[in-house]
Amino acid sequence: MSFKSDIEIAQETTMQPITEVAKTAGIDEKYLEQYGKYKAKVDYSILKEETHTQGKLVLVTAINPTPAGEGKTTTTVGLADGMRKLGKNVLVALREPSLGPVFGVKGGAAGGGYAQVVPMEDINLHFTGDFHAIGAANNLLAAMLDNHIYQGNRLNIDPRRITWRRCVDMNDRQLRFVVDGLGGRVNGTPREDGYDITVASEIMAVLCLASDITDLKARLSRLVVGYTYDEKPVTAGDLNAQGAMTALLKDALKPNLVQTLEHTPAFVHGGPFANIAHGCNSVTATKIAMHLSDYTITEAGFGADLGAEKFLDIKCRMAGLKPSCVVLVATVRALKYNGGVPKAETGVENLEALEKGLPNLLQHVGNITKVYKLPCVVAINRFPQDTEAELKLVEDKCRELGVNVALSEVWGKGGEGGIALANEVIRLCDQPNDFTFSYELDKPIKEKIRDIVTKIYHGDDVAFTPNAEKQIKALTELGYDKMPICMAKTQYSFSDDPAKLGAPKGFTVTVRNVKVSAGAGFLVALTGEIMTMPGLPKVPAAERIDVDENGKISGLF
Ligand code: ADP
Ligand code: MG
Repeated sequence: MSFKSDIEIAQETTMQPITEVAKTAGIDEKYLEQYGKYKAKVDYSILKEETHTQGKLVLVTAINPTPAGEGKTTTTVGLADGMRKLGKNVLVALREPSLGPVFGVKGGAAGGGYAQVVPMEDINLHFTGDFHAIGAANNLLAAMLDNHIYQGNRLNIDPRRITWRRCVDMNDRQLRFVVDGLGGRVNGTPREDGYDITVASEIMAVLCLASDITDLKARLSRLVVGYTYDEKPVTAGDLNAQGAMTALLKDALKPNLVQTLEHTPAFVHGGPFANIAHGCNSVTATKIAMHLSDYTITEAGFGADLGAEKFLDIKCRMAGLKPSCVVLVATVRALKYNGGVPKAETGVENLEALEKGLPNLLQHVGNITKVYKLPCVVAINRFPQDTEAELKLVEDKCRELGVNVALSEVWGKGGEGGIALANEVIRLCDQPNDFTFSYELDKPIKEKIRDIVTKIYHGDDVAFTPNAEKQIKALTELGYDKMPICMAKTQYSFSDDPAKLGAPKGFTVTVRNVKVSAGAGFLVALTGEIMTMPGLPKVPAAERIDVDENGKISGLF
């Protein structure tokens, strides 16, 4: 079998001018700020206009994936195109890709096959400069912090307890740990420092959770940059950095409008990490999309144990959003992987392993319908190598157990391949639901974490290392205990062990570190070492990317 690559398909499409796309979305020209012909930012003041839409929100999430990704973005785009074919007023809200994965292993993040957002080259590369703005704001704060120490350290900051790191949007392991401020008295204060990838900067999470510019500034001023010699947190507000940082971010806060291959309007805005942050596109984009459309289709990173949990317990809670339906993407290959087949053999028919992997899917469905009390449909994302017998087995088993299911062929057929899923989503959105969070905010930190582990992961209990115990005590004393929890855990398992596939039982999750992201407004519970500055692989995707004499890019995927 030979297929056109994502970039070939994307480059064959005739895009509509962004002004036309804006018209489809019902965006008045006065709110549109064009970035060339096919991209625009939309001013958030559009939210002050009266709305006449029903604004239903649909989350696309997935089972525990294989390392290749199971097609959430692809399904999100194709589902929206399918709904539009059925005459619905629908918008897409996605995250922006980071240059790290684009040049590393995973590649871009603009969907795949005939379900993509375009212009894919721009979206995957600099786009509208949001990430550069976030990097600049992050590094301004770092510069002001070190300058404060250099200029006499009025705040009594302990240089050994600085938590704010510098950032750059690149996979660059060389920068993980650095010593800076060398060169003697006039060149700063020597200290151990380090870089994170921009998408791991707390500013990214702040930008994505801020409801407006005032809220953005207030969140930025709460950012904790380190601690004093007497253990008091020091904030960006203490350094008076919030005003200038907000100035750098004022345009980055405006959602970016693009289109799908079938000209459905799509917001692509913000892209926080899904481990140390919440992994969803911006609240402003989601809210504007809901304001303009009857259905907004959005995605959250990783599998549903992380992505959906954080989307529902963090984002929806903070932004006051009530979703109408959840789409759970499953693939034959990930089910086989969860059934114990090594990654390299997931392309071979294996009905036995497929059936063995189903408990993973069913546990995610149960979480959505029973814990969160939301309607749910399984979307089987069809891959070229899937056999009829395999697809039928998944569908039959779901029906047998009363689980809503639809075959999705959007990767191969675009919106046309998403009609069955679209019909099911429309039906489920009309059902009333009693959306509930998985834990309450006013519980103690440990109880909140225990709720997530027992209700969502189905683990027996949580163990806290002595270090984590100490941090929880300190954070509680500082009054940071009423925030939601952002779990940083492997995406490959319900447990904290990537080798425990399927629906593992009888395990304990170990929390090793608890940190406050006071600007974002959540506590990060780390179950292992989480990489906030990835490295490049032996053969980076970057080696295949090129551009010809006309400026046409090739090799992006
Ligand atoms: P996720 O959002 O879950 O990480 P993506 O939608 O980005 O997943 O898809 C991951 C990769 O898999 C992309 O390169 C995409 O082109 C490819 N892909 C997705 N669905 C299919 C499919 N049905 N058949 C073949 N390739 C697919
Ligand atoms: Mg994705």
